[in-house]
Amino acid sequence: MRPNIRSLHAYEAKETPCKAKLDANESPYPLADFRSRKFAALLGRVMSNRYPDPEANELRKVVGSYFGVPSGNLLQGNGSDELISALITTFGGPVLYPVPTFSMYGIISQALGEKGIAVPLDSSFDIDLERVLKTMRSQNPKLIFLSSPNNPTGNCFSFAKILRIIERSRGIVVVDEAYQPFSSQRGFLPLLENYRNLVIMRTLSKVGLAALRLGFLIAHADIIHEVNKVRLPFNVNSLSQSLAVAAMKDQKRLRFFIGTIVRERDRLQKEMKTIKGVITFPSEANFILFKVKHPDRVCASLLNGGVLVRNLHSGIKGCLRVTVGTPDENTLFLKELRRAFSVGSAL
Ligand code: PMP
Repeated sequence: MRPNIRSLHAYEAKETPCKAKLDANESPYPLADFRSRKFAALLGRVMSNRYPDPEANELRKVVGSYFGVPSGNLLQGNGSDELISALITTFGGPVLYPVPTFSMYGIISQALGEKGIAVPLDSSFDIDLERVLKTMRSQNPKLIFLSSPNNPTGNCFSFAKILRIIERSRGIVVVDEAYQPFSSQRGFLPLLENYRNLVIMRTLSKVGLAALRLGFLIAHADIIHEVNKVRLPFNVNSLSQSLAVAAMKDQKRLRFFIGTIVRERDRLQKEMKTIKGVITFPSEANFILFKVKHPDRVCASLLNGGVLVRNLHSGIKGCLRVTVGTPDENTLFLKELRRAFSVGSAL
């Protein structure tokens, strides 16, 4: 067995029964309602004996028009996780990323036998530019992953700092915009024409289609051409292609759900700030990072009340992460959080 795999820790994801599942940054709203007649008819047209369209042509066209880019600048993945793997396979390491961030950059680097370089964020969870530039000079990373808005901290990195990194990098810079739909800050799509080493990564998992597993790279056609060589044939199945095409055409519904989530995030943030013992961090995403004195006890108390959140204490001291749910789920979360801190509780 390869030693890099023996020492690897698998990504932790397991099903825990609960009333409000607020641990995985999913959307509480299914964008494709499989019970509706429209989607049922689509399923009826999928031929189970045939391979899917290997190039996902229609899907790339629809998603391309959503992002305002030609489909030749788009590469489809079975979730963006798969595209992280394809990028590291294509360009190799060292792979640089600030931490704390999405754990898959490090896990996949190690799985593929490439060196991962974790550079700590500064005290306000922004990029420590001097340190990153210094590490770039000494280690010459082939790939840099910047999740902005960042998971799990919730903030966007400074636009100017990301730009400096793109300009200074002799390798590829991937701006992972998984949470950009919820952000009030500008994204990097308009800069694609100016920077040939820039790759944007997007996913449909956060906007109500996580079950379909669909992620996309958006980049210069030369980069797409190269990464496409390592993409496994037929990586996106027919059901996902067909359902996502229909779901993504309904822009009104998509925008409505995103707007609701953003409003609810701001309500949660405001309410959480009023609870003594809870420190919240600003968020441009569909989740909120917050800090408490006894994270394990708060987590257990919330789950006792049926609310599942993510315990990040092992990585960021005292921190938990709650995903924005439906208004009812959020109200339940607030009630249970208040209860955890109420007079007489152990906290
Ligand atoms: N990037 C970031 C920053 C994420 O938080 C996630 C999901 N947790 C992903 C990528 C992976 O998304 P997908 O479901 O498309 O694989």
